[in-house]
Amino acid sequence: MTTIREEDFIQSVADAFQFISYYHPVDYIKSLHEAYLREESPAAKDAMAQILINSRMAAEGHRPICQDTGIAIAFIRAGMNVRWDTQRSLEELVNEGVRRAYTDKDNPLRASMLADPDGKRRNTGDNTPAVTHVELVPGDTVEVIVAAKGGGSENKSKFACLLPSDSIVDWVLNLVPTMGADWCPPGLLSLGIGGSPEKAMLMAKWGMMDPINIHELRARGPKTHGEELRLELFEKVNALGVGAQGLGGLTTVLDVKVTEFATHAASKPVALLPNCAATRHAHFVLDGSGPAKLDPPSLSDWPKLTLDFAGSKRVNLDTLTKAEIAAWKSGDRLLLSGKLLTGRDAAHKRMVEMMSRGEKLPVDLTNRFIYYTGPVDAVRDEAVGPAGPTTSSRMDKFVEPVLANTGLIGMVGKSERGPVAIESIRKHGAVYCIAVGGAAYLVSKAIRASKVLAFEDLGMEAIREFEVKDMPVTVAVDSSGNAVHKTGPAQWRARIGKIPVAVV
Ligand code: SF4
Repeated sequence: MTTIREEDFIQSVADAFQFISYYHPVDYIKSLHEAYLREESPAAKDAMAQILINSRMAAEGHRPICQDTGIAIAFIRAGMNVRWDTQRSLEELVNEGVRRAYTDKDNPLRASMLADPDGKRRNTGDNTPAVTHVELVPGDTVEVIVAAKGGGSENKSKFACLLPSDSIVDWVLNLVPTMGADWCPPGLLSLGIGGSPEKAMLMAKWGMMDPINIHELRARGPKTHGEELRLELFEKVNALGVGAQGLGGLTTVLDVKVTEFATHAASKPVALLPNCAATRHAHFVLDGSGPAKLDPPSLSDWPKLTLDFAGSKRVNLDTLTKAEIAAWKSGDRLLLSGKLLTGRDAAHKRMVEMMSRGEKLPVDLTNRFIYYTGPVDAVRDEAVGPAGPTTSSRMDKFVEPVLANTGLIGMVGKSERGPVAIESIRKHGAVYCIAVGGAAYLVSKAIRASKVLAFEDLGMEAIREFEVKDMPVTVAVDSSGNAVHKTGPAQWRARIGKIPVAVV
């Protein structure tokens, strides 16, 4: 019988969450690089280059790939011959490992977990609790998979109880365009089919941890219905033309996973979960001989790419006016320099509540840009930790009151805006730009200084002022209301020509 020591388990979990915060799985890097080489859409290719360069920088600097260091998830397959040298539950041990990883002094990770989710939404401070799943299996080892899943991709999880005669392919192809770019493609889609509703969701989450191997499957040919479905969905989802970051292009998914289980005669439960550009998971096995050792990838696993800013306009944020931004067109690439405010969900909610009570805002937004981000805490000589964009559509309902009452002229975030926000941007002659989701460490290198201006109690959601130098962004909604997330995918879907383009 194997004995697993409490400390070995906790340290292994802590090490694994640190490891995945800065190392992409090698299969993801290689697969994204292949897609980058094939990509014909300049905007999508540029986004992929930023993700790959960011990935290498994160690996070299041991700093997070993305500022959203995720909800911590652990899958444990414990051998039935294992004896545990602990008085605590496995869930408590995982939480202790997560606490240790997320409060690491050298590489602190962002704590994103909020207790009381429908009430006060209080940050627990150390990213606990983790979500832990335990299964007992024959054997005398403990297999552990840890994953850190960002909110942007988790929020796009889908589930349905389809009719037995319904087509899963149709269901997926109808859903993916509605998921937009909030889940930071390119990544993977994982389906769990069958079982009961919760079983389908869990299978989809497990399946996501498998290596990217669709090209091997294509080369050897499918042997099961599930493998046929993987290949069909891989081709058809990519033919939708969504592309990297929703900008339109050849690659939206690097793989599609399908996990199946028997189900009731009246049912066809199906779960669809995306994994984003910050695909992060690690696998290890404990056999009682001590903590797990994770093999770091070699830097030669990353391609050596450089950013190409030819064709980008340089913009001075400190002198910007509405007249100047009126000349920008959706799809234009910009390099922002100067003072950039930050604020996201909680700061916008508080500002709008203050305005409705007739109170003066603590920060003058006239002719300013605001960046939707919640950065990781800085270490050593950093001005700020990784600080990529968060999902902008969560701020859509605040756009009209903020633009109408504050003099703000621009926003920076990630993925598309909804129709109401786009109409407000057009009406007020403002502009919305995107930075690349999943390129947080790269973006943070453009930030030279940072200070909190207001709402310090909101932690990572406080209003900050960044001093940026040549921060790369793309105009996603111009002052006439033209949106690149509408035009880009439609253009590439038509160009790929395998899925009819809907006339709207
Ligand atoms: S890559 Fe995008 S979806 Fe993934 S964790 Fe980062 S911001 Fe969230």
